Amino acid sequence: MAYLDTDVRYCKGIGEKKAQLLNKLGVFTVHDLVSYFPRKYEDRSQFKPIALTCDGEVACIKALVADTPRLMRIRRGMELVKFRVVDESGSVDITYFNQPYMKDAVHRGGCYNFYGKVIFAGSKRTMSNPVHEPEDAPCGVTGRIIPLYRLTTGLSQKLVMNAVRQALDACGDELPEVLPESLRKKYRLAQVGYAYENIHFPTDFEALELARRRLIFEELFLLACALGKMKGGHSKAEGIKMPPVELREFFDSLPFSPTGAQLRAVSEALGDMQSGKAMNRLIQGDVGSGKTLVAAALIWYTWKNGFSSAFMAPTEILAQQHFDTLSSFLAPFGMRLGKLTGAMTAKQKREVKAQLKNGEIDLIIGTHALFSEDVEYSRLGLVVTDEQHRFGVNQRSSLISKGDRPHVLVMSATPIPRTLALIIYGDLDISVIDELPPGRQKVDTFAVTESYRTRLNGFIRKLVGEGRQVFVVCPMIEDNDELPQNVKSAQEHAAELQRYFPDLRVACVHGGMKSKEKNDIMSTFVAGDTDILVSTTVIEVGVDVPNAALMIIENADRFGLSQLHQLRGRVGRGKHKSYCVLVSDTDNPDSEARLRIMTKTNDGFKISEEDLRLRGPGDFFGSRQHGLPAMHVADLCSDMNVLQTAQTAAQELLAQDPELELQEHAALKAAVERLFDLSSDTLN
Ligand code: ADP
Ligand code: MG
Repeated sequence: MAYLDTDVRYCKGIGEKKAQLLNKLGVFTVHDLVSYFPRKYEDRSQFKPIALTCDGEVACIKALVADTPRLMRIRRGMELVKFRVVDESGSVDITYFNQPYMKDAVHRGGCYNFYGKVIFAGSKRTMSNPVHEPEDAPCGVTGRIIPLYRLTTGLSQKLVMNAVRQALDACGDELPEVLPESLRKKYRLAQVGYAYENIHFPTDFEALELARRRLIFEELFLLACALGKMKGGHSKAEGIKMPPVELREFFDSLPFSPTGAQLRAVSEALGDMQSGKAMNRLIQGDVGSGKTLVAAALIWYTWKNGFSSAFMAPTEILAQQHFDTLSSFLAPFGMRLGKLTGAMTAKQKREVKAQLKNGEIDLIIGTHALFSEDVEYSRLGLVVTDEQHRFGVNQRSSLISKGDRPHVLVMSATPIPRTLALIIYGDLDISVIDELPPGRQKVDTFAVTESYRTRLNGFIRKLVGEGRQVFVVCPMIEDNDELPQNVKSAQEHAAELQRYFPDLRVACVHGGMKSKEKNDIMSTFVAGDTDILVSTTVIEVGVDVPNAALMIIENADRFGLSQLHQLRGRVGRGKHKSYCVLVSDTDNPDSEARLRIMTKTNDGFKISEEDLRLRGPGDFFGSRQHGLPAMHVADLCSDMNVLQTAQTAAQELLAQDPELELQEHAALKAAVERLFDLSSDTLN
């Protein structure tokens, strides 16, 4: 077995316990360890003459211990070790608090490096608890740029740093060079060994930059190759040609007129479907912009052309809701709708599958179950997936492979900045629905602290009294010892609300429940027979309850901006004035900033840009929701130009060797496969 694949617990100085902590950080093997890049660096590369250090400056000095260290007991529980150090320019009085061993750790006349904050006390310079090491220490922590890693409780910088050092020493030659040499030359990229060494232990900032550039390129290039390879020949492939059919009949049947943006999206899609090429289109529209209607129009069109459609939703609840909505739009025309979800009994599924195969269903709506292997379609012309960001990239392609190149429509409510969309959705064409149906009111949003609880309860009482319904979202399902006391769990909070409002109908729904149970509770709420629905984020996507006028989000600081926006989108869908209340006692400035943005704007694109800015695209992009691997080095905002270059490079390479079969691409191929093996485990 290659050393790179060795479990970290066999590394010197790590062992079982520390290995578990490293596992928490996603580090399992030596390869993971050396790929665990520093979060930032501390510049300890310059030694400063003592006399040039300023008050308050954090500095590295090289100095001689001028007297014998003295151990003093000030009082119980407080011991000091004091000594003075000198260089040619001046002296510093050094004190270590409660580290009695320091008395013997340094010796009079010895030369050491110290790193710490210099404080002027009267005419003297002092340092407290500086980092210290002998002048000639191997793998020193002074006199160079020091890596700082993201840690978890129980791990120290030093431990991680030493472990990485050892791993690099042991596996330096073994690291696979995934970038073909020609490519490295062309784009002037550092070699793999150099890059790994210098991303951890840069000799100087120039080397660090070279290392970073190469690794960023590598990361984005691998991603681009992986996505490119996955998409394979789907783009601009031959597709089913569906000649024009007048849509007036469909639109006339609706209880409202479509918005201009909806019509535009429909006509762009029709352009694709009439072209003879396979459609591959993403519809992006904020929550409530009416994407379902666009899909319905295209499904109707497909049916008029004599083909069937499949509509895939990310959850059972949504599948049910879409089934109801689409039935109301389409059943009056005599279209035959079916449903296929994991929650159905084996017998029900068998029946639906038989109908599908026999062409007795014009539109099938369902969850993942739709692409189980044993589902066969008859004349499948259109595949719609809703809330795409919930599905992994590879799931999308597996659905496309059903049937004979059906047209594909992907709908997403996550407004992704265009450049990111480019990579996530690659060669999808994009339509944006940038207009909400008329009469939609802005959801008034407030950020409040726990001290508002009584008033908030009064507000619930008032709205329910007016006949409205209330959503309450909590960050977790049940009480959990690992989280701080004040974090609300859906179950506990629901019980609390029920005690507070004994006369109201409170229900609780969460992801830990069986589908059937979830569906029943949701349907009861949709029917208006529940006043307050407490949930986890299971209700995040798509659920439409026009009578709900209040969304309360508990511990709102624990949610991301886009997520808060999605949640808020659950209210304000009917004619009633609606509100969103974000409850949080956070004093973290970032969280406060997030909540403030929510109170200021209802615009999803603005919010997603802010989100990107605050969280950093690493998180945004790497978030499991996309089913894409996390980015370790690349920052998709500032590294946008590299992204474009990497994508071009990937396209060129794939044009030459689509399956990466050439010998010189073997390491690349393995890396690409590894990338998606890893991320397919994290699909939800
Ligand atoms: P989303 O884009 O979030 O999926 P939906 O398709 O669920 O939005 O639509 C949200 C609500 O707006 C639904 O109740 C739908 O019936 C309504 N709606 C959609 N289009 C229009 C329109 N053109 N005029 C009025 N209401 C509309
Ligand atoms: Mg929707």
